[in-house]
Parts: sequence; C-alpha cells; structure tokens
Amino acid sequence: MKLTIGHLYPDLLNLYGDRGNIQCLMKRCQWRGIQAETIAYELNDKIDFSALDIVLLGGGSDREQMLVCEKLKEIRKDFKDYVEDNGVVIAICGGYQLLGNYYKTDQGTITGLELVDMYTEQGEGRLISNIILKSELFEMPVVGFENHGGRTYINDNKPLGKVLYGSGNDGKTGYEGVVYKNVIGTYLHGPLLPKNPQLADWLISHALKKKYGNDVELIPLDDSQEKEANAYICGRFLK
Ligand code: GLN
Repeated sequence: MKLTIGHLYPDLLNLYGDRGNIQCLMKRCQWRGIQAETIAYELNDKIDFSALDIVLLGGGSDREQMLVCEKLKEIRKDFKDYVEDNGVVIAICGGYQLLGNYYKTDQGTITGLELVDMYTEQGEGRLISNIILKSELFEMPVVGFENHGGRTYINDNKPLGKVLYGSGNDGKTGYEGVVYKNVIGTYLHGPLLPKNPQLADWLISHALKKKYGNDVELIPLDDSQEKEANAYICGRFLK
C-alpha cells in the first residue's frame, strides 16, 4: 500500500512549522510498512489532485494568505472535486480559514476556496492559548496551541470538537474546527499530529480506505509517550 501526501505551498503556508505534521504522517505510515511520499507544491506548480491521497494546507499570516488567495481561484474546481470525492484534507489555521467562503480582515477580504460552507472575520485581539478539545472522533482529548485573529463561523457544519480549555473557532460558541466529509479544519497548529496520533491515524485510515477499500485496518503503534504527554497537558489545564 502507498499514500501520496500533497503539501500545498509550504514556502508561504508553514507558520509554526506545520511541516512537522507531514513527517508525522510519513513516519506513522512507514512504521506500519505503508509506503509514503510527499509532494510539496510551490505557487506556480500544477497540482494533479487525482494523484494525491492526503492534502495538507498549513497556517500563514494574513499577508501570506493574501498572496496565496489569487492562486486558489485557479485550483478551486479541482480541489472541490477532490473533496466531494472523499479526498482527505487536513487544513490548519490560515489554511483552515481558506477552506471557507472568505476571510475578512482590516486589510481587505480574502476569497476562500469555498470547499466548506463557513467564513472567517477578523475580531478584536488575537486568541492565543493552549487548547484542549473533546472530539467525537477520538477517545483521547485533542491538545494543541491556537493563535489567530480570525473568528470562524461554520454554519451548519460539524465542529471538530467541543472546547474544554481555550477559545476555539470564535471564542464564544465553545466549539473548535470543522469536519466535512474527509476534511478536517482546525486552528491547532505547530505539532498537531505528533501530539495527537489519533488524528494522524484518522487521516491515514480514511485515505487508505478510500484507496484500498473499507476493510483496511491500521496496525496499532506504541503511543505510550504521546498518551502520557496528553494526560500531562490535560492535568495541567483541566482542573
Ligand atoms: N492569519 C490568520 C489569523 O491571524 C491565521 C494565522 C495562523 O495561521 N496562525 O487569524
């Protein structure tokens, strides 16, 4: 079995080293004997979505998002077809905002990919915090760090989880992220997948099932250190 991961525009969207999430996906495949390769795309590269099994869209500053936005118009149709065909996507922070219809800032409005019916508007002050969620998708809480000026409104879509600590999508509703088909969008950046192996495996298993059929089972890995780290963070912030 083999998975190909497409990393979109790492030269612009790689805030807080989102690239580490790619390494985590590759390693968790390789440890199980699943071949994995990553194709990193620069702005002018042509993307053949039919060759990809997982797409990662990382975080970026408002300025970088503005630069990427023009390019998104060109790939929107192919990306939308990929998503509707149950392609797997993980979109983080700035990339998460770009999944939606638009991101309105003081400097202007950035048109999004319109892959998920949601939108983002810049609010007063930044939401910066450690964050913990309970997601229906996983047993363990999802832990991470958020730093965003945008407030995201996901309309009727499902959130990734309920905020147990931190701000989440808009600092008010108590929810974080979005799940649409095989797309996960979230504000949790930095080492999202190394810290949350269950989320990494969700992406891997959905990609494998789409490609090789529903009876593919992932071999469990020894995640005892990750579980300990997760318990430590929960103990520290959830009193
Ligand atoms: N520029 C966006 C915001 O501030 C996203 C930032 C990020 O990716 N950390 O809301």
